[in-house]
Amino acid sequence: MTLKGLRRGKGGLDCKRLGRLDEREGAALVRRAYDRGIRLFAATREYSGTEERAARGLEGIGRSEYLLLTDVRASDAESFRRSLDESLRALGTEYVDVLCLRGVRPEDISDGLREAMSEAKRSRRVRAIGLASDSVESAREAVCGGFFDAVLYPLNSLSAPEELEIAALAEECGVYFFASMPMAGGLLRSAAGAMAFLRGVGNVHPLWGAEYPWQIDETAALERRPPRSTKLLRERIEGEREMSAGLLCRGCGECMPCPVGIDIPFAARAGYIVHIAPRGAYTDAETRGKMRLATKCVGCGYCADRCRFGLNVRGLIRRGVNEYREYMWEQGEEWE
Ligand code: SF4
Ligand code: SF4
Repeated sequence: MTLKGLRRGKGGLDCKRLGRLDEREGAALVRRAYDRGIRLFAATREYSGTEERAARGLEGIGRSEYLLLTDVRASDAESFRRSLDESLRALGTEYVDVLCLRGVRPEDISDGLREAMSEAKRSRRVRAIGLASDSVESAREAVCGGFFDAVLYPLNSLSAPEELEIAALAEECGVYFFASMPMAGGLLRSAAGAMAFLRGVGNVHPLWGAEYPWQIDETAALERRPPRSTKLLRERIEGEREMSAGLLCRGCGECMPCPVGIDIPFAARAGYIVHIAPRGAYTDAETRGKMRLATKCVGCGYCADRCRFGLNVRGLIRRGVNEYREYMWEQGEEWE
């Protein structure tokens, strides 16, 4: 299947962070991106308000002029249909170009859910069905399994060779590869380096996060005139890689379970998660409890033994706790 208007290596705007802005500001950033040439907009059901902001920002523009991607969490046919209906309503459209299913491993997808996804394509409410996953195995299975048209996976210059291979495999199999976290959740500083790197990996479509007008302008300018991979840029990419490779938790959960009960994928990425989510989204009692438990890590090392990326998991959890503490302080909330 072909997504009309999505050229090789073209990226788009990841609207997740727009939930942190009020609706008018978020919509203005979407329109700014469109006016500067961005034609792919990725929203999500995960963070409330992002689909609405995308819809408002694109109001009045012909639907065939841009592409919409969104992701839904569904474990059965009924929740899938319901989520799709909600997404279409929030986005103010009759179809989405790419709908990514999140939170299910390909091998666990029931026949009913598969049929509901196929039916959504037949009825043209969805052009392409994708899988959104942080797990290497699930992403690979989605690419090779023959059912999915697209995969949404975090990919950047800190990614391991086996992750980069999935992008190459996707190109071979004719599956679209959308890369979330192209700047590794803020660990990378050079957008030009991040873009040059991903363009060298294969036919990858990065989804760039933005919260400020200058970020939109920078991304749009780079998308219009992609940077060439010069020696200087390659050295910069390598330098960033050396500095930050051990800090990127993918959230795959392979290090679980923790004997203390710590939600490691959340705690290790807490700083990143709270800073892209709508303000106040993680001040609830459940998250407070989860992060309080993270301070009880006994350093047994089971998680580090299981992390295939060789991360210093305990160090990442400590960092997550510190960043959560700072976040709660910024929100004016008592935590400890
Ligand atoms: S080192 Fe800490 S987080 Fe890791 S498994 Fe042990 S108690 Fe859990
Ligand atoms: S610490 Fe390693 S295994 Fe655990 S979620 Fe992060 S990347 Fe995955």
